[in-house]
Amino acid sequence: MRTSITSRLNFRLWIHLVGVVLALDILLLVAVSVGIVMYAEHRIAEAVESIGDPRSLSEDSVRLLSISGISVVPLDRDPTGCEIPGLFRRAFPEQTAGGTRWFEFHVEHPVGSGEHLGDAEQALLRRIYNLTYRIELTSDDYSYAVRMTLGPVIRVPMAIFIVLLIAELLAVLRSLSIGGHIIQRTMRPIVELAEKAQSMTTARGPYSPEEIQALAGKLEGITAARLDTRIDVDGAQDELKSVAAAINSMLDRINESYKAQARFVSDASHELRSPIAAIQGYANLLDRWGKHDEQALQESIDAIKEEAANMKELVEQLLFLAKGDSHAMPLHEELINLSDVAEAVVKETQMIDDRHVLESRLTPVHAKADPGLIKQALRILVDNAIKYTPSGGRIVVSVKRSADMAWLTVQDDGIGIPPEAVPRIFDRFYRADDSRARATGGTGLGLSIAKWIVERHGGRIEVLSRQDIGTRISIVIPAAEQ
Ligand code: ATP
Ligand code: MG
Repeated sequence: MRTSITSRLNFRLWIHLVGVVLALDILLLVAVSVGIVMYAEHRIAEAVESIGDPRSLSEDSVRLLSISGISVVPLDRDPTGCEIPGLFRRAFPEQTAGGTRWFEFHVEHPVGSGEHLGDAEQALLRRIYNLTYRIELTSDDYSYAVRMTLGPVIRVPMAIFIVLLIAELLAVLRSLSIGGHIIQRTMRPIVELAEKAQSMTTARGPYSPEEIQALAGKLEGITAARLDTRIDVDGAQDELKSVAAAINSMLDRINESYKAQARFVSDASHELRSPIAAIQGYANLLDRWGKHDEQALQESIDAIKEEAANMKELVEQLLFLAKGDSHAMPLHEELINLSDVAEAVVKETQMIDDRHVLESRLTPVHAKADPGLIKQALRILVDNAIKYTPSGGRIVVSVKRSADMAWLTVQDDGIGIPPEAVPRIFDRFYRADDSRARATGGTGLGLSIAKWIVERHGGRIEVLSRQDIGTRISIVIPAAEQ
């Protein structure tokens, strides 16, 4: 990953740099050329001004002009060359604006020396240094050409330009290696992160806290000032930061769900251990004394039956949650009257519980729901109300409709739930009062199952509870159109 991305990125940046440098060079060349042409125009204009009539030039004037590289020749033909378009004429001196101009290589009088050079180079040098700017003018009845040798004028700019080109070439070549280095340094945190992640994936088993910490450390490295400060990486840093944040939160979630799973398994084993221990205890008791003791025999059989029933209940609850977690629980929805479901639950409860006053206030409310699951959820609520309400207490089951939601409510005047426990009662294996709950035989899975069922129906559970006054828990699911 390092070599390919680095070299590709570096090459692209380099091409970009070369492009910019070339463009600037061309711009510079054009600007200098325009400057030289304008200089020549002005010099020739000055000469034309001082010459007057070129046919009557004195020897002295000719010599004087030639010192500044200017020569004047009468023309026996019509002027040729470039005319200045009317629009630009005002930028040129008025003496020469009307003429035609062009460049030529005037090699009769070579300027400059190059004895040490080969013939070809000498010829090239001579051509460049003898570059001449020519303007041809027409005055009344005669034409003449004024030439100016540009050699001495272009010599210095050309030397500077060549030095500049060499410097640029060196800088551009250097940037090729420096760029690669900078990019590599910039990418180092990512490479380290990838290596760390790789080493974690190849390690056996789940992530240990130390490993996650180490990876988080690498991510911190990305967000901190590890990136090279010589190039502007503010934008890149932000991108890396968000990558780091995303990976961090993903790791958090993985870790969290992993922990939850481990907790679930350990809680489940713990819950199963007590009934197994009890059964083992009674079996031992039977083994030692029970064979001949009628009373011990019956007591043990009863206890073993009860513990086995508890275990069965627990295993069924666990299976339900496992199926729910793996989305293997089908929902058989149909249009049902929730009052019918509530009535059935109340009736069956009345049959097994005669210690409480059970009331129902039912109005027919329809909903599209799985009757079996809704019944199970309501049973869980009623079962809690019975368990956590002392004998003689009153339990009211009601069904009503409010706006487009159906409410199945179970209200008791039992022991209530401490305020700090309310947010946790839906957690798996959570019991508000462990010692008391153990006496009532609960495992703390009931409400988490009810919550799963209700959420699966697109609803929610609402809890209102005051300690020693009572509890009201409602299943709220979308009602069907009336
Ligand atoms: P089980 O899995 O057998 O239902 P459980 O009843 O202990 O066990 P949940 O039904 O999930 O578990 O209830 C969680 C806890 O919430 C209970 O242990 C209890 O402390 C508290 N709780 C629930 N309903 C009531 C209620 N009606 N009155 C008082 N406390 C309640
Ligand atoms: Mg319960």
